[in-house]
Order: sequence, then structure tokens, then C-alpha cells
Amino acid sequence: MSSPRTIVIVGAGFSGTLVAANLLKSQHWAATHIILVERAAKIARGKAYAECNHPYLLNVPAGRMSADSNSPLDFLNFAQHRIPDATAEDFLPRELYGEYLEAALLDAEVAAAPHVGFQRVKGDICRIEPRKDAGYRCQLSDGSQIDADDVVLALGNPGPTGLPGTEDLGDQYISDPWSGSLTFTPGETVLLVGTGLTMADATMAAAAETNDEVVIHALSRHGLIPPSQTQFSQNTCKADTASMFRAASFSALTLLRSVRELADETERRGGDWRETITFIRNVAPQLWQRLPAREKRRFLRHVRPYWDVHRHRLPSQTLARMNHLRRHQKLNVHAGRLLKFEVVPAAEATRTKVRVTWRPRGGDALRTLLVDRVINCTGPDYSIRRSRDPLIRSLVEQGLASPDALSLGMRTGPYGALINAQGHEASNLFYVGPMLRADHWETTAAQELRGYAERLAGYLSAPIGRMRAVASA
Ligand SMILES: Cc1cc2nc3c(=O)[nH]c(=O)nc-3n(C[C@H](O)[C@H](O)[C@H](O)COP(=O)(O)OP(=O)(O)OC[C@H]3O[C@@H](n4cnc5c(N)ncnc54)[C@H](O)[C@@H]3O)c2cc1C
Repeated sequence: MSSPRTIVIVGAGFSGTLVAANLLKSQHWAATHIILVERAAKIARGKAYAECNHPYLLNVPAGRMSADSNSPLDFLNFAQHRIPDATAEDFLPRELYGEYLEAALLDAEVAAAPHVGFQRVKGDICRIEPRKDAGYRCQLSDGSQIDADDVVLALGNPGPTGLPGTEDLGDQYISDPWSGSLTFTPGETVLLVGTGLTMADATMAAAAETNDEVVIHALSRHGLIPPSQTQFSQNTCKADTASMFRAASFSALTLLRSVRELADETERRGGDWRETITFIRNVAPQLWQRLPAREKRRFLRHVRPYWDVHRHRLPSQTLARMNHLRRHQKLNVHAGRLLKFEVVPAAEATRTKVRVTWRPRGGDALRTLLVDRVINCTGPDYSIRRSRDPLIRSLVEQGLASPDALSLGMRTGPYGALINAQGHEASNLFYVGPMLRADHWETTAAQELRGYAERLAGYLSAPIGRMRAVASA
């Protein structure tokens, strides 16, 4: 009897867990063994849904967080077993979402067909290389190895780019707020670099932990903080998709004008301009793929900060809390450019402070802040060229993975097949996760990643002949 086909999934955060769950639910034509490898103690958590000492909230309402596109209220139904009065509009704890993902995987495992095996492995895959016959050999950091016919990389969000000039700050600099549990001391003054969702998380954690006894400065180029999620009907935006696609193939400016016109038109019809953002989000991959390379650069330089801030919004209670802190000067948001960090003596001889020099946006005069710590909240750095992750480095060094020209992530073909350094698509090595943004742009949130995970699992479980046909269609 031939041995079963082995599919190894590297990383059991949101994406890896959903690929595994969907593979377990799929109809497989031959005996299949699925191995899910995760280096963290718990699966189905990743950075987003991990247990932590602060009850962070999802930034998307429960009714839009289902892990199963065929069952939109799946998460809400799960949550209501714990929180009976939870509604589809509620922003529920992120930890609860991690439990939900784990339960979804367990359900899929229990219901899997007898010829579909499943194994969880706790381990850190540090290298993957092609085998001579076919498939790949996955090397774990403990020296063991796993042979695979197909490999799915679901490695998650990398840490942020290092901030220049922080080398001498020692433990007064936190380079990645998600690398461990963030803790705060009452009375300290902290600079958060970045004013997006990570800044909001850090602010909420600091205020809760110290009973508002922390002074926070948050600084970014534009000083834009995400607005709150709002409820609105989704049926007023009547977009002409074809003309939007034409606008994208012309230039970023033409696309921006079309989006503005659509937003105005939506408001004239009595709708909410944010419907336009939802529409654009749904066609973002097609728009992104049509934008010429030079125009993608322009978009990143001029439009991205505004797109990010409107696309990634906050639960209204988080924003209300942040506004309260701003009114009491506990949270001070600045727009400007960081210039220098210096360690300087503090009044207490045993401590030092960090003097931060920055230039306000549009101004010439320099300003300084005296803080106890600096926390890098600039968000993930998806550049695989700069990655220090041993697995990613080994893939790049072997030419198995290749970066896109804009350093947004990994180049991939249909279903996330990796594109190698020679420009060829791998037939058995796939990626799913936020680095799909190189080719699809909007690939951060659960809603998009769920779709990519479902499609990849469908592709992997189809018989080989059909897989090829689907791929070339
Ligand atoms: C803080 C935060 C909050 C978010 N909140 C929301 C939200 O409210 N709503 C929403 O829609 N989206 C949210 N997102 C976005 C989205 O859900 C996440 O980006 C998503 O979790 C990405 O899934 P992933 O599997 O690609 O990465 P992750 O979930 O981070 O998982 C990657 C996993 O791979 C493991 N791993 C990596 N390398 C290896 C290796 N070599 N060997 C073994 N294991 C490895 C890691 O340990 C990790 O568990 C949030 C993201 C973040 C970072």
C-alpha cells in the first residue's frame, strides 16, 4: 500500500489553523496525513488572539468574524455559549476568538474522514529544502525532520522594522510589543512610535494596568489615529466595477478620484461614504494587480496612510476611552518625524530617561520629549529581504521564496504557490497569510485570510489532475 500524501502546515495561528480545519473538512481522494507544526505552546492564537494580561477586544464586530464563510454567524454562536447576551455588533475579547479557532479545529478533526490523518507537532521549523525525489524536507530546530509532499507556510506577522538610533536604549526600548506581554509602571512616561491599531492596544493596556497613571506620547508621520467602527447599511454604494478597474490600470490618482466620486455619489443616495471602503476592500486584489508598478509606489507614498486609517478601524469603546485619555493629557498624539534618541540622567540617580528629538509635520522647529521608555508600534515589517527569521532566510537564500519589488511580502501565484527567484511557481510549496499583500494588497484581516485559507485547502484536497486544470484556468 502506498504511503499517504503528507501535507505539512508551518504555523498554527489564524491562517494555518484554518487551512488545517478546511483540509480536515474537505473530501480527499486519497489517504492524506496533515501535520500542523507550531512553535508556541498554544495553537490557534498567533500574535492576534493570544492569551495576555489585558483583555484586548477584536476590532471587528462578532457578526463579521466567522472562520467559516458558509456560516457567517459561527463565531457569534460560539461566543453566545460564554456570553449569552452577545450580539453580532459586539466587539468581543480577542482571547475568546483564539478559543473559538481552537474549537473549530477540534470539531473538524473529530468529523474528518477515516483516511484523513491529523497530527499536531510542537516545534520550530528552521529550514525547508526540496527533496531529490519530490516534495520537501522540513528541518526542526531540535534536529528532527519531517518529510512532506506539500508544505503550507502560515508564518504570520513579523515584528516591526527596527527604529534607527535605539541601539543604546537597552531595556528602555521595546522593539516588538507582541514579542511578550507588555507591562507598564504607574507614573512612567512612554513614547509609542506609530499611531495605528498597535498604538491603540498599547494605550489601552497601559491605561488599564496603571489606572490611567501613565503619560503616553504617540508619534507618527501623519499623526492619524484610526476612527471608530460605525454601523451603516450596505446597499447604497452602486459601483461600476469595470470603470473602477479601468481607473486602476491608468494611475493611482485616477483611481483615487473614482473612489472619491463613488463616495460622494453614495452620500447623495443617502448612504454612508464608508460603504465605498467596503466595496474597494472587496475588489482590492483586482485593483492592486491592475495598478502599474510606478503607480503602486505612488499609492504607497501618498495614499496608504489614509487608506490604512479608514480601512482598519477601532471599536467605538476603545476610541471613546482614548479620547478620554487625550482630554486629560494622558494620551498626546503628535504628527512629525523622529530625529534622535539620547539616554540622559534622570532626577533619581539610579535611573535614566530617553530624550527624543522630533520635528513636527510641516514645521522647522525641533521639539523634544523626555520619556522613560520607547515602544515600537509601527506594525509588521513584511520585507522578506530584511527578515531575521531563520526559515524565511533559508527560503530566500535557496531562491525558493522571492520578495516583490515593493517589499510588501512574498511573491505568490494562484492559491498562494510560492514564486521562486527564477520567477517559476512552485507546485507543492504554498504561503497563506498577510504577506500575500505583495500580490493582493488587502490580506491582513480575518475576513480576507479566511477566504485564502478556504481556497488553498480546496485546491490541495482536489485530485492532482484537477488541481492542475484549476490552476491553469
Ligand atoms: C494584534 C493583532 C490584532 C488583530 N485583530 C484583528 C481583529 O480584531 N479582526 C481581524 O479581522 N483581524 C485582526 N488581526 C489580523 C489577523 O487576524 C491576523 O493578522 C492573523 O492572525 C494572521 O494570521 P496568521 O496565521 O498569518 O499569523 P499568526 O496568527 O500570527 O500565526 C502565525 C503562527 O505561526 C507560528 N510560526 C511562525 N513561524 C514558525 C515556524 N518556523 N515554525 C513553527 N511555527 C511558526 C507562530 O508561532 C504563530 O503561531 C489582528 C492582527 C494582530 C497582529
